[in-house]
Amino acid sequence: MKLEYDIIIVGAGLVGLTTALACAHSGASVALLDRREMEPGQDSRVSALSTTSLNLFKNLGVEIEDGLQPIKDMLVTEGVPDSPWRLHFESGRSSLGAIIENPPLKAALIERVYETESIQIFAPADIQNFENNAASAIVDMGEAKLEARLLIAADGRESGLRKKSGITVQRFDYDAASLVTTISHELPHDGLAWQRIIKGGAIAVLPLTGNRSQIVWSGPRQSVEAAASIPETDFIALLFEKMDGYLGNMHCIAERQSYPLRLQVADRLSKGRIALAGDAAHIIHPLAGQGLNLGLRDAAALAEGVKVSRQTGQDIGVASLLEYEMWRDVDIRSLGALTHGIHRISGAGLAPIGHARRFGLAMINRSSMVKSQLKTRAAGVAKDLPELLR
Ligand SMILES: Cc1cc2nc3c(=O)[nH]c(=O)nc-3n(C[C@H](O)[C@H](O)[C@H](O)COP(=O)(O)OP(=O)(O)OC[C@H]3O[C@@H](n4cnc5c(N)ncnc54)[C@H](O)[C@@H]3O)c2cc1C
Repeated sequence: MKLEYDIIIVGAGLVGLTTALACAHSGASVALLDRREMEPGQDSRVSALSTTSLNLFKNLGVEIEDGLQPIKDMLVTEGVPDSPWRLHFESGRSSLGAIIENPPLKAALIERVYETESIQIFAPADIQNFENNAASAIVDMGEAKLEARLLIAADGRESGLRKKSGITVQRFDYDAASLVTTISHELPHDGLAWQRIIKGGAIAVLPLTGNRSQIVWSGPRQSVEAAASIPETDFIALLFEKMDGYLGNMHCIAERQSYPLRLQVADRLSKGRIALAGDAAHIIHPLAGQGLNLGLRDAAALAEGVKVSRQTGQDIGVASLLEYEMWRDVDIRSLGALTHGIHRISGAGLAPIGHARRFGLAMINRSSMVKSQLKTRAAGVAKDLPELLR
């Protein structure tokens, strides 16, 4: 049996689901495949969503309002929250975005995908083979073959489609990891997202709805992975000490999970009729909370290309990819370089670098122009944004 669509998307993670909705919004018929069931899953992570990502979900009718905690203040310090070595952003007129836990975000996306008639779901699906031909792309699932003009690989960091297509990557392993968990705490967070630079890494305390916060503890892989497996009372005591008692008494309300960190960027974003999106295309250090935001901008850019190709009667598997490659390349590479640089500086324990870092934080904090540019970068705002991000 052969089924035909405009687009096939492999991978129904946060990026694949959003890409399916965005392309369907552009009028395309979409087949969405995942090797696992369509479920929110056991992800302890949260996503700090930029203004443009929030616009995207609103434009696609994804209902996440109830789970969103707006970021009212953002603080990076070397030391306690009132340390003089600090960089402080207030939300003011421009928003600093909002934070949501990944499972409710994924649940809302899945619900919206099921409501969308032009998206057909195949999950769990077992891809046996695929072809990237001149006239179309074909995915072989054994009993059924799917054919489309465009094949989007949103199949995550180890993307099989990327590897089998022969698209190479530039990869740098940090020998570092991030431990994530959620805590409930005695004192209110007042919407403050606080990142404290500690020896060899950083601890981010990100506000969630109610008296709850996400902890993202990044540092040398061995010590972070060890902290993930110590008894919970010892972990809480360690955390309390690293946070100087900020937020008062606390306890863990989610599993501790650790993620090895790397910088990885594909050498190209498309080949023939295949386009890469999300972690399949790029992985950056999570310290700026931008990885998913980048993937969501991939989704919006692909959908914009599909819309324009359809309006002008061009082949969506060819015309849309030219724009896609050009528009996404600068955004991905510049953010990759920026997060890499911040990681190198924030992780350095050497006294001269530590001194320069403290001085740098204080200097930037005094410049409203530099701060405003950093805010704009984090919000994902740029000239000529795809319509869905506005
Ligand atoms: C500790 C940490 C904190 C982070 N915090 C933030 C943050 O605050 N803000 C932010 O913007 N980003 C953040 N990120 C980054 C963000 O989590 C990722 O970029 C994002 O989840 C990637 O989504 P994805 O859909 O591309 O990939 P994935 O979530 O990996 O999804 C890939 C999907 O493809 C499927 N798949 C794989 N292979 C196949 C196959 N052969 N056939 C079918 N299906 C397949 C998988 O089952 C999966 O469902 C963080 C990352 C980390 C590690």
